[in-house]
Amino acid sequence: MAILQASDFKKIRTPEDFLKKIEQLYGRERRDLSKHLGNPPDVRNVPAKVWKQIREDEEALMLALLVGFGSMMLDDWMDSIEVFTEEDVPRERIRRRFMSTARKRSRAVASSVTRTTKKRLRSALDTEERVSKRRTLDEILGTARAETVTRTELSAARGAAAMAAYEGAKSLGLDVHAVWTLRPCDHCKVCPNLHRTDYPFWSQYAAHPPAHVNCCCVIELEYGDRDDLLSRGVIREGDHSAVIDAKVDERMPYFEPRL
Ligand SMILES: [Zn+2]
Ligand SMILES: [Zn+2]
Repeated sequence: MAILQASDFKKIRTPEDFLKKIEQLYGRERRDLSKHLGNPPDVRNVPAKVWKQIREDEEALMLALLVGFGSMMLDDWMDSIEVFTEEDVPRERIRRRFMSTARKRSRAVASSVTRTTKKRLRSALDTEERVSKRRTLDEILGTARAETVTRTELSAARGAAAMAAYEGAKSLGLDVHAVWTLRPCDHCKVCPNLHRTDYPFWSQYAAHPPAHVNCCCVIELEYGDRDDLLSRGVIREGDHSAVIDAKVDERMPYFEPRL
């Protein structure tokens, strides 16, 4: 049975709904893996088709998460562009661009999540001492991981929607700037160096937030003359050496979600 029915999409409206869906999926993965790991448990006993199913289910759920939340945000973004132009906002083009990012992202996240599950299982089971198969699965595919994935992918939905809107506004000839903005959450050492810089600077380090797991930065669109925005402190010039210094002890993967 498919993990998501068409009717489910309408019921998924809040981060809590998603968390619940992801936890359900993880519960099913734990049962499937437990059955196939065998006794003594060994990752090599799990058939490729089981891993494939897990990856496909993850991908379907991630796409639902990204599209479910991204669409709500996209509508708001498109309404906000309308304020600055007499022309028709290219809603279809903006939506298509967002969908293409969401599809790529869900594929990448599903592969990353599945790979990590396999790797963590292997290293947990490859120890000398006997480990509990059940406890290992509970740890690897538990609530903490589901929460991390939800948090990070909500940030991805927000970031991808903002960038689709940014491209749409630019295509109308508007003087628009995509500004990286920190939000109150735990930050790595790199994100603060991107704060309030605009697209030409921060895009050298990330495609859009999240820059890493649990990154809650957002993109804000600012309209108007860049020099004017700079003098008012709405935008600031980025400092490459500060980002690179920060990267020395805190690696920031370029748009590579390692969930
Ligand atoms: Zn960060
Ligand atoms: Zn961040």
